[in-house]
Amino acid sequence: MCRWGCLDNNMIFKCKFCGTNYCKACGRGDFHGVMTDSAVCRVCFQPKCQGERIGGAPEKSTKKAATNKKTVKTDSSKK
Ligand SMILES: [Zn+2]
Ligand SMILES: [Zn+2]
Repeated sequence: MCRWGCLDNNMIFKCKFCGTNYCKACGRGDFHGVMTDSAVCRVCFQPKCQGERIGGAPEKSTKKAATNKKTVKTDSSKK
């Protein structure tokens, strides 16, 4: 799920002009209303506003770190 409610979580982009985050799948973003044209920023109205892809929520990717846990043994017999 994107942060605005649609099922896509890989379609969040950032406007390369003003930095506004928006979801290309549902047209919503950090603004009021919905984008009428997915190529035009709703905030600064620049055409071809698609900047870098934000993706989903990068902070939620703790799954891999958990499986890759180091087996740290508390070795008390240090010599
Ligand atoms: Zn969306
Ligand atoms: Zn913009």
